[in-house]
Amino acid sequence: MLLQVEKIEKSYGDHCVLDGLSFTVDRCEVVGIMGANGAGKTTLLRIINCLLEADGGQVLFEGYPMTRNDLEVVGYLPEERGLYRRMRVGEQVLYLAQLKGMSRKEAEESAHEWFRRLGAEDWWKKPASKLSKGMQQKVQFIAAVVHRPRLLILDEPFSGFDSENATMLRREIERLSAEGTAILLSTHNAEAARDLCTKIIKL
Ligand code: ATP
Repeated sequence: MLLQVEKIEKSYGDHCVLDGLSFTVDRCEVVGIMGANGAGKTTLLRIINCLLEADGGQVLFEGYPMTRNDLEVVGYLPEERGLYRRMRVGEQVLYLAQLKGMSRKEAEESAHEWFRRLGAEDWWKKPASKLSKGMQQKVQFIAAVVHRPRLLILDEPFSGFDSENATMLRREIERLSAEGTAILLSTHNAEAARDLCTKIIKL
């Protein structure tokens, strides 16, 4: 099992958000996290990404307590989107891929392949500030997958995309999953969740 979330508890003050949540995500699985606004989806994804500490329970990665070292093989599209506004987006993706342990050459090959695949090659030299919100989101998705993560975590990946890009994203999620990537995504899009997910966790 790639990821095991075991009895995770989290409160903010006396507001209990996660109350002993458990589930697993394995290779080739697409697990959906659904719940109303404020249900705790982002809190959960931040805990798995070691950005927030749980009050109780544990997250295991390949059977061991997950640490920041595991993040090299994890990709994360956070809810709060944000690229460096002035830096050219191609360079940003290369920089982020190298932070995840890729060599410059590997990063260039993978990044160019992704930009081509998603029809974004013409944006490579543009700063993020010159791209629309949806275009920036596409670049951020590339930044989450460029290093070929084993676990991909997507927080509301469809929000901000038009229907054509949402369909593109669904196709890419299916393809990555078929290739073996374990995918965990939060969404309010019930139709996408029903079509894509092998399992849905309701918060
Ligand atoms: P949405 O669908 O609106 O994105 P969500 O399911 O992702 O919501 P979270 O962002 O995880 O929900 O928030 C869960 C609850 O925890 C909310 O009630 C929120 O107000 C609260 N909360 C989140 N972060 C903090 C914080 N840093 N301090 C206090 N309360 C917080």
